[in-house]
Parts: sequence; structure tokens; C-alpha cells
Amino acid sequence: MFNAFLQLLYPKLCFACEDPLFESEEFICTYCRISLARVDYTQNSPWWLRAKFDGLFVYQEVQTFFIFASGGRVQYLMHAIKYKGAEDLGEYLGLWAGQSLKKFHFFHEVDCIIPIPLHPKRLQERSYNQAECIGNGLAKGLQIPILPKALQKFSQTNSLIGQDRSHRFEILKDSFEVLADVRGRHVLIVDDTLTTGATLLAAAEKIKAAGAKEVSFFTLAALK
Ligand SMILES: [Zn+2]
Repeated sequence: MFNAFLQLLYPKLCFACEDPLFESEEFICTYCRISLARVDYTQNSPWWLRAKFDGLFVYQEVQTFFIFASGGRVQYLMHAIKYKGAEDLGEYLGLWAGQSLKKFHFFHEVDCIIPIPLHPKRLQERSYNQAECIGNGLAKGLQIPILPKALQKFSQTNSLIGQDRSHRFEILKDSFEVLADVRGRHVLIVDDTLTTGATLLAAAEKIKAAGAKEVSFFTLAALK
């Protein structure tokens, strides 16, 4: 009763469309839950997703949950996770994705989940790492352990601006260090949004070099 009263005074809003939520709804409204653009897990991972890595790196599987469009509701969601302190939302969506993926074959052989880290300074400003929140939910949904501190991010000593693609990649690669023993394991690297894939590739190279058997990728949203 009291909660209903509070909800009347300060309605909780859908993180995707900003309509007021019903008491039974959590984080996003039922309309958005059904209608946000998502990947069809009954099919193989979409070609446009694979195209970001094919020919650049030997990986096992790549998947995403939402299809990102600039200015759309998925962008609002991702913005809330990244910048508005909505840690719980990240975990909630990660869990939803994990439960959806668990029914399919994509990540059946994965041994552990490793989220892309934030630089320690950025982590201090933001107080949480959005990729870790998503990874925590995903780990619960897929029932796979997460190694939240397995990767560390350093300052990039050189700016990426003005560098060509291969040079940018080298700089990015050297900004990660693997702190966990990943030898012989199939690692699922997790991030919030996939655009060019450069960050995931750089982390994957490092994880492979540290002895991982296989690498797969998951992001909560991806740009087509
Ligand atoms: Zn909504």
C-alpha cells in the first residue's frame, strides 16, 4: 500500500521509454520488454556481428542481446547503465540475456566470464564497472563463474588519435593485463556495447596470449 502511494508520488519510469511503470514491472515496461530490437537466438549469430571479428581473430562464438540504434530506446537503456548509476539495471538485463541464452547452444562450452575492466581512475569516478554488472547477471543466468578482476586496464601511453588501425590496436592491446590463470580455459569476454570491436579484440588477444584455449564474446547491445 505504502509502495503504491510512493509510486503515485514518484513514479518509477521505464529506463527505455520513460513511461511510468506499473507496480508489477521492474526497470523496463512490458511494451519495451516485448518490442525492443533483439537478436533471434533460434538462428546462428547474425552475419553483421561475426563480420566485426571474422578474419581478424580466431574466436568461438559472438552474441549480443539488443540491437543498438542511435537515438533509440536501446541507447537510453545503455546510457542509464553507463552514466546514470543504474548498476541494478545492468545486472537485471545481464540476467535476462543469460536466461535467454541458456536455452541455446552458444555458450555451452564456456568455462568462465571475464568483463572488460574500466581504467581505475574511471572506476573511482563512476564507482562501478557497467561491464561487470552485466557480467554478474549473465553469469547467474548462464550458471557460469565470473572472474571480475581477471583483466586490468592501464593508461594508454599514446593517444589513439591520428594512428592507423593496426597501430591503434597495438596501443589498445598493451593497455590490458591478464591477472588470472586462464590457461586451457574457454573465456567469454563481456562488455556493454559493441561498436567496432577494437576493445574486445585487444582484450581477446591478451587472454589468448595468456594461454586461454578459446575465446567468445558477448555484449548487451551491438551496433549493426
Ligand atoms: Zn518502456
